Amino acid sequence: MKTERTPYLWPLFLITFLFMFIPSIYAQDSTLAQAPIFVDEEPVNTKYLFKEGHMLVPAMFFKHTGAFVDWNREYRSVVFKGNEELIALPVGKKFTDEYDSGTWKRGVLSTEAIEFKGDVFVPLVDVAKKLGMNIKYNPTLNRTFITTNITIKSNSIKSVETNEKLVALTFDDGPEDYYTPKILDVLKEKGVPATFFVVGNEITKYPDVMKRIVKEGHGIGNHTKSHPNLRTQWSSVVREEILSTQEELQRVVGRKSDLFRPPYGAITKADIKVLNEIGMRNIMWSVDTLDWSGLSADKIIEIVHKEINPGGIVLQHNFQYGRLLDGSVEALPRIIDDLQKEGYTFVTLQTLLAKEQSASIERNQRSFEGKLKE
Ligand SMILES: [Zn+2]
Repeated sequence: MKTERTPYLWPLFLITFLFMFIPSIYAQDSTLAQAPIFVDEEPVNTKYLFKEGHMLVPAMFFKHTGAFVDWNREYRSVVFKGNEELIALPVGKKFTDEYDSGTWKRGVLSTEAIEFKGDVFVPLVDVAKKLGMNIKYNPTLNRTFITTNITIKSNSIKSVETNEKLVALTFDDGPEDYYTPKILDVLKEKGVPATFFVVGNEITKYPDVMKRIVKEGHGIGNHTKSHPNLRTQWSSVVREEILSTQEELQRVVGRKSDLFRPPYGAITKADIKVLNEIGMRNIMWSVDTLDWSGLSADKIIEIVHKEINPGGIVLQHNFQYGRLLDGSVEALPRIIDDLQKEGYTFVTLQTLLAKEQSASIERNQRSFEGKLKE
């Protein structure tokens, strides 16, 4: 009996043995090591891997330095654009094509760019140097530091410095036809303006709701066409996401916006540069109601009371896939009543930002007059 059993047991044992190991091999593949790399003193967390002794990072990492990062489908290469530099790294090739004085020239790479798990990885040191950046590894700290040569005018705003008790309510991700009309009804009843950061695809789906937002005197902002995380998008895609939404706004309500809010609040220096080139400002928030997570009205009101300040920008939503915004809609009239009782006035973001500009002109004037007196 024993000799008969063994042949059956061996394969079984082998299969069990293999199954024990296969999942862990997969797990290892999908969880790449991560580490912060310091870009102009700011830590940027990134995946990385080593090949032939060189550190490779996803090409998208370089968007944090302010360089544009794009994909050339024809040549299957990643294209980096720094201040002056234009460099292409074809995947699987140990060379670069570098644009210099009107012609493309071949450059040397220490190791080639590779595709791995849906990302293109490029050699960190090579690309940084070719983009004219200073890169140093500090072995004591076990940290890499990059000093970029790219200066980007910051156009991000979280709140406005003002002594006036002004507050801007903002609603993201719409328009749609379930929560948006309810929110618009409340705002109309209370006679309060807000600002809607709209998604291009939703404008196309709900043009009438979009028109109602504008007709009722609310401010509008651009929230991309399809709501992607910009950190994972090629620079040309980011530009297209923003510009196509501008065009859709123009088509449906006859005007564009100079305000932008990035989906998930995720943005890189390169994306800020795109906004600067288009002439738009990046609007974040100072009060995060977390309403999208399905919080109750009471919880949302508690957050608003705790975080509100004059010049504050409140983040709310008017579209959510799981329809978890009942608490947010219920909280809205109470937020308005409570804050008005505390002496707050509700304004659109456009109005709030105008206050900031006049405040900073006044500050500059004061310091100028102060200098004259000295
Ligand atoms: Zn959003």
